Amino acid sequence: MLLCKLVLTQNYFSFRSSTFVQKTGLAMGAATSHIFSEIFLQYLEDTSIFTILTQHKTVGYFRYVDDILIACDSTNTDSYTVLAQFNNSAPSLTFTMEMQKDDCINFPAVSIIKQHNSLPFKIYRKPTATDSIITADYNHHIDHKYSAIRSFRHRLQSYPLSDTHKHVEHDIISHILRANQYSSSVVQNIRSYLVVAPPIHSTLGLTQHTAPQQAHNQYGTFTYVGKEIRHVTKIFKQTNVKIAFKTKNTIERLLRHRKTSTQDDCFGKSGVYKLTCPDCNMTYVGQTGRSFRTRFREHARDFKYRTGNSKFAQHLIDQGHSFGSIDSIMEILHVVRKGALKDTLERFQIYKATSLGIQINDRSTAGSNSLFNTVLSHVKPGRQP
Ligand SMILES: [Zn+2]
Repeated sequence: MLLCKLVLTQNYFSFRSSTFVQKTGLAMGAATSHIFSEIFLQYLEDTSIFTILTQHKTVGYFRYVDDILIACDSTNTDSYTVLAQFNNSAPSLTFTMEMQKDDCINFPAVSIIKQHNSLPFKIYRKPTATDSIITADYNHHIDHKYSAIRSFRHRLQSYPLSDTHKHVEHDIISHILRANQYSSSVVQNIRSYLVVAPPIHSTLGLTQHTAPQQAHNQYGTFTYVGKEIRHVTKIFKQTNVKIAFKTKNTIERLLRHRKTSTQDDCFGKSGVYKLTCPDCNMTYVGQTGRSFRTRFREHARDFKYRTGNSKFAQHLIDQGHSFGSIDSIMEILHVVRKGALKDTLERFQIYKATSLGIQINDRSTAGSNSLFNTVLSHVKPGRQP
């Protein structure tokens, strides 16, 4: 609960060198936000929404994430009163209403049309929808390229579309495929689903998994580098190892800070490090904008020539303790470039060492910090925060 509170309240961002705190609502893009919003909406449904719906004799209520579809008879239900009561029940949210237009309403991906005694569907695309999918010439595994096509075809087959709407949707899909350089055979393949609708799951790429089969199957992942990788993965065809492909070229990878993988190839990088005295296990935390190795040599020189520049070297000299090799006494805590993040990480590590009573750094560099305390109290022993 404390961690939830922390995530929900430490909600700040900077814009044009000013820092802002978001007072209400959830942080956009935060990994926790969708869970919190779902919990909140379910709570709202249980506490007030269902009461409002019953009071106003609505006929149907459907919610998909943040879209709600309500079916009602206008002689029994005043939709504007319902909307007002929805908004009263949660002042922090603003519900808006879209009424059916020309006997048609859009609800996430379908348009529901009101006809005499029936409700036919057609596929709805937002005005902002683009025709972009992974183009045929991209260096991606075919399964990845086909996932969009499979999804189009799945909708075409599984939604209760009329024949007219099926043909309209087919034309749209064909257009998208051609725009993304897919061959006419792929486009033709889609056409075949208009004639006889084969059962879903038995179609191309959608293999049916039954429970007992899954229990025996193991999965392996390969990075897709080109068609050649197929020669390797073919070997697994006769085994119960299922192969999935991933690609290295992701936006996440481009934007992510690199983590320390192994120590030895990281001494050439820069960031926050820790030196441990081999004799008494006291630690010194420091940061460097040059390589860890260069900084280590400086500490070693300060120790050798007793320059008094290094707090760590001074500790060894004062206590009569020995120096060690880079592998035995230097630990890389965070590989980061210059900036506020590095300063904060250094402060945090000094704070941590101080709270454990094993720090060599000046005590004055670490004042009490409730944020650091919260992080420290929730870190499992032996795990690097
Ligand atoms: Zn020592």
